Amino acid sequence: MIKGQFPVEKFHSLETPFYYYDMDLLRQTLDAVKKEVEGKNYIVHYALKANANPRILREIASYGFGADCVSGNEILKALDCGFPASKIAFAGVGKTDKEIKIGLDNGIFCFNVESLPEMEAIDRLASETGNVAPVALRINPNVDAHTHRYITTGLEENKFGLNESDLPKAIDLIEKSKHLKLIGMHFHIGSQITDLSSFEDLCVKAVELQNWFSQRGISFEVLNVGGGLGINYHHPNHCPVADFEAYFRLFAKYLKLQENQTLHFELGRSFVAPCGSLIARTTYVKEGTTKKFLITDAGMSDLIRPALYQAFHHIENISSDKEYETYDVVGPVCESSDVFGEAVLLNQSRRGDFIAIRSAGAYGETMASMYNCRALPRSYFSDSL
Ligand SMILES: *Cc1c(COP(=O)(O)O)cnc(C)c1O
Repeated sequence: MIKGQFPVEKFHSLETPFYYYDMDLLRQTLDAVKKEVEGKNYIVHYALKANANPRILREIASYGFGADCVSGNEILKALDCGFPASKIAFAGVGKTDKEIKIGLDNGIFCFNVESLPEMEAIDRLASETGNVAPVALRINPNVDAHTHRYITTGLEENKFGLNESDLPKAIDLIEKSKHLKLIGMHFHIGSQITDLSSFEDLCVKAVELQNWFSQRGISFEVLNVGGGLGINYHHPNHCPVADFEAYFRLFAKYLKLQENQTLHFELGRSFVAPCGSLIARTTYVKEGTTKKFLITDAGMSDLIRPALYQAFHHIENISSDKEYETYDVVGPVCESSDVFGEAVLLNQSRRGDFIAIRSAGAYGETMASMYNCRALPRSYFSDSL
């Protein structure tokens, strides 16, 4: 088995657990995206919720990408880390008045509206503050993303977006309002999507809806197809960069843009997942009756994806090159779901060995908690270690 490249010598002086970010890989990924969208009417917004570490945000902002935010604090953080307001989209089913005002006060690019009552709230607040709010309708396209049900967002049973039956009322509201400006349509069908045909279904639906609107004399400058491109969690060393070429090619094929139309994307996971690893030390190797447990000093409070979504992460012992043995890799937190992997093949391990839990750059550090009064994990970067 090939292993990832880690400066293990340098890790010895650091307190574990921590997130380690390979900044070369992050830049390689950002370069790959930039190459695909250059010269096209495509604008990519990075979804901050995947990883909001300021170093990572500044790097992504420096490439000229926009931001996709799902809370008022994410908007403030994006601004703080160099994303211009003119490239910030704001989504979320539960935007509070306070958060909407943050968007209005800062003159963000667009509110992706997810319900009629939200639209009324934005209208009222925009009128109170003398603003015109640019809005895109987040429409639930009822397209199956073929991913874990906790990260599927585009089905009628999900809480996200307006249903098609809401659209006549939405149009009516906007036409009557002096403080809402309809600029686009928005979709987001889910995350960790590896079956690209789901995006094809989305395109077909988007074209259908666009025709429906155009029959009513409405055209859009903005089409926003959201994010969701998956990465290869099983082979982080073979496939470190997501297949952006195939992804963007699909949209170019199935969505013909009208003149003056821009196509927007909101990618989170595929930008940052591969470059991050959670590094832990082995606290104990414990012989169970039927299996061997490797207990790390990292737990579900540092990386909750396996416990929350039954997510898979490739795991390596980066201190050992002895023969392979099978371990259940678990954390110290008092929950039976605090398991990083079952029956994992690792080089024979002992107390103190460093364990790398790979592809943890997205929905890792951002979801860390202090459960069990644990400290939040720190972060280190390959170019400033
Ligand atoms: C989470 C989210 C994204 C990013 O999804 P990824 O799977 O990380 O690419 C994009 N848009 C919206 C509205 C989101 O909620």
